[in-house]
Amino acid sequence: MSENERHEKFTKEEELERYKKAGSIHRQVTEYIKPHVKVGVKLIDLCEMIESKILELGGKYAFPTNISINNLAAHYSSPPSDETVIEEKDIVKIDFGVHVDGYIADGAFTLTFNQEYNSLVEASEEALNKAIEAIKPKVKTNEVGKIIEETIKKYGYRPIRDLSGHILGQYNLHGAKNIPNIKVPFGKEIFEGEVYAVETFATTGQGYAHETPYVYIYSLIPVRAPLRSQLARTVLKKIMDEFKTLPFSQRWLLKDMTLGSVKLAFRELVNTGLLHQYHVLADVKGSYVSQAEHTLIVTRDGCEVTTR
Ligand code: MN
Ligand code: MN
Repeated sequence: MSENERHEKFTKEEELERYKKAGSIHRQVTEYIKPHVKVGVKLIDLCEMIESKILELGGKYAFPTNISINNLAAHYSSPPSDETVIEEKDIVKIDFGVHVDGYIADGAFTLTFNQEYNSLVEASEEALNKAIEAIKPKVKTNEVGKIIEETIKKYGYRPIRDLSGHILGQYNLHGAKNIPNIKVPFGKEIFEGEVYAVETFATTGQGYAHETPYVYIYSLIPVRAPLRSQLARTVLKKIMDEFKTLPFSQRWLLKDMTLGSVKLAFRELVNTGLLHQYHVLADVKGSYVSQAEHTLIVTRDGCEVTTR
């Protein structure tokens, strides 16, 4: 392991402090960005505004800003020079992450300018609120999933079964425990001091998020592999230094490199098995998906939401 792969250690108290600071930045960025989400705005401008605001407030981004529209459920982040704009009937999910020394706040909200989808937005929001009310030590993750599924179904929509909330760790966005969006036979016990991002998805579609061919988000797979080109080695070093094992975008490497060289380097890194690719996930064409997400710390008798 190189020096860069080792993470600074903190006491439990210092960790919680950092989780809360990340949450407070997340909250401020959410308030800042909401009025800018309007018909005609370019997605890339929103992504960049969110990401620079995070830095301005003293945080770092934990992953590229996801702005997934309509049937896209997750993992759409503007690629370099994205021309996509928000259109009148769109339902827009904005999901972004902040970290402080690797301690993450992950949260999302949905906006729409189409009255028709108000109840779809409410369904995921209410499911999230109900999940938060239920989370405390000794509760099992599948019990929370059941509450989420029942709440969304009450509105006449489906939960997305292959997306779930997740435990967080230092520089670890998706730990080994999940909070499902549906009722499943087995779950794991929730413990005091754990930190989870709980995210609920309601859809008018089939309730599955399938992989599309598009990839705009990547993360490093921490294995050793020989790289042929100096270019790929340089990009790998940058990724290790700046993003460690957290997801990143090609956009973030363009400050001192051309898009051509970034693409070339990524191709070699992907082919060598060093990059995980997050495919854009979508429900069926013509469907609409809403999402709500908060990060919370499990306390002795409940939980404390850091992102609201
Ligand atoms: Mn998220
Ligand atoms: Mn998440």
